[in-house]
Amino acid sequence: MRPSDLPGSSDPQEIKKVGSRELHIAWSDGHLSVYRASYLREKCPCAGCIDEWTGALRIIPGSIPADTGVVKAELVGRYALRFDFSDGHNTGIFSFDYLRALCPCADCTGTAREFAGGDSNG
Ligand SMILES: [Zn+2]
Ligand SMILES: [Zn+2]
Repeated sequence: MRPSDLPGSSDPQEIKKVGSRELHIAWSDGHLSVYRASYLREKCPCAGCIDEWTGALRIIPGSIPADTGVVKAELVGRYALRFDFSDGHNTGIFSFDYLRALCPCADCTGTAREFAGGDSNG
């Protein structure tokens, strides 16, 4: 069970750019997420990066240069962030829910993933 519809479950308390290649988000429940900029770039949810018909990623995993940076992080309303990446890409709107789901830490990527070991056709 995931209370994903509950407001406040994914509220950032603090959003901090660390250097140009790392972003830290401290959540209201005390969790800290650390993202590499290249990771966020790879997970960009905009129409140019995800096929809007199939939902398939258009970015080949691993194809984003590791030195990709975040030039700017900007709040969109009260629910999302928009990043200016160093490669010029800036159309992705990352909702807080999405960012929380992307958290690469061991706690979040451990046993609770729905797609563990999944291998879809295609
Ligand atoms: Zn994109
Ligand atoms: Zn986490």
